[in-house]
Amino acid sequence: MRSFWLCERFYGKNLVLSTLPNCPECVAREKKALKKQYEMEAAKAEEEDKDYFIPSDRDIGSDIEIPMKLDPSTKHFVCKRCGLYATREQISDIRDRLNQREFTKEDKQYDYLEWWQKSKKEKQA
Ligand SMILES: [Zn+2]
Repeated sequence: MRSFWLCERFYGKNLVLSTLPNCPECVAREKKALKKQYEMEAAKAEEEDKDYFIPSDRDIGSDIEIPMKLDPSTKHFVCKRCGLYATREQISDIRDRLNQREFTKEDKQYDYLEWWQKSKKEKQA
């Protein structure tokens, strides 16, 4: 999973930019907004009796780029938009959890929140 990600990024246009991970929180938010938009358009198309194709979850937001900034002294990445502060491992962990959450919805949200609060505390220590 991760090697695929690195590979994909490595062959991106801008090597410097592309080695920075995207903020999983912001990407998830953008994806959700995009999905809502697609669903609205689909509902509208249905009313007008037109065909409408909603892209798959995997395709939605696949081109969203919200690169985080590296803080070289702490090796943590910082998101300028939402303030997320995490290592690369934590970022992929968050991304996994966010992806899972889409399938299992609210019951997973508690786990995630708990984990996130805990990681925040660790950060301050
Ligand atoms: Zn963010």
